[in-house]
Amino acid sequence: MRRKQEVMEISIVAFLIFSACLTIYHGVDAQHHWSYRNYNGPEKWPEMYPSQCTGYYQSPVDIRTDETRCNLQLTTFGFYDPPQGGKFIAHNNAHSIQVDTNGQFFLAYGGLQDRYRISQLHFHWGSSNDKGSEHKINDEAAPMEMHIVSWNVDKYSSMAEAVTKPDGLAVLSILFRVSYYDNPLLEPLVQVIPYIRDPEWNNSVEIPCVAISAFLPRCPEKYYRYHGSLTTPRCYESVTWTVFKEKQTISERQLYYFRSALMAHTTKEFPIPHTPHTIVNPSGEILDLLVDNARPTQPLNGRVIERSFPYLDVV
Ligand SMILES: [Zn+2]
Repeated sequence: MRRKQEVMEISIVAFLIFSACLTIYHGVDAQHHWSYRNYNGPEKWPEMYPSQCTGYYQSPVDIRTDETRCNLQLTTFGFYDPPQGGKFIAHNNAHSIQVDTNGQFFLAYGGLQDRYRISQLHFHWGSSNDKGSEHKINDEAAPMEMHIVSWNVDKYSSMAEAVTKPDGLAVLSILFRVSYYDNPLLEPLVQVIPYIRDPEWNNSVEIPCVAISAFLPRCPEKYYRYHGSLTTPRCYESVTWTVFKEKQTISERQLYYFRSALMAHTTKEFPIPHTPHTIVNPSGEILDLLVDNARPTQPLNGRVIERSFPYLDVV
């Protein structure tokens, strides 16, 4: 009887130590391994980053167009590009396909008080055409959304300094619709996706540098404006958001390339469950496709979204 009790006590102690280790491991890991599903998906971000991802003015949001307010001070953007000697470097950061814009790329006006320096652009896309974008328009998602990320160069000395400030960042959001035709602007990036497909390769590929303004949809003077946050941890509420009214285009073939990229490999600690978005390679390793990398829309909490154009139904 005594021996049985001892064994039980040892088991309880062992269990407590194991639990503590697991907690510490998860705590440390949480700093580095947020994702879009499973153990570290968007619903877990508020626990993982309690002081930021639980904020009141988070992004993305659903833009209900009939609740937007016209503000004619939201003027057309001015771009300073392409710079001499600029470089576009494409890579897969396991959350998105990102293009770093190394060089002097700036934007101004568009209702912004300061000049902003463009540091990178990246994409969010779906496993099917009915989802993928982070922002929604009247509850409708687009198959892809592009973010052009810039920081306030008039007030701050670096992206790292600007990222926590209320007027630190400006992000331009461009929604896409599927077209029968390829979008020639995206093709240089699409062509290199096979070389950066797997984030564990740690590959970066230079692609031809073009004017950032070329990525804007038609009627770039028509856009929605609100203040919100980064849509990835650490969810800082430092972003002046611009969501363009008109959409850019991408073909099904080009989307296929984006959908072939990989998110993460399985690990012993975080085994990836089989889902429709996992594939198994010849060595039996489970790979998670980089699709549906979108945070769900967040409550407006009283924010009024402005629009730069007077009439909703006139293109
Ligand atoms: Zn983004």
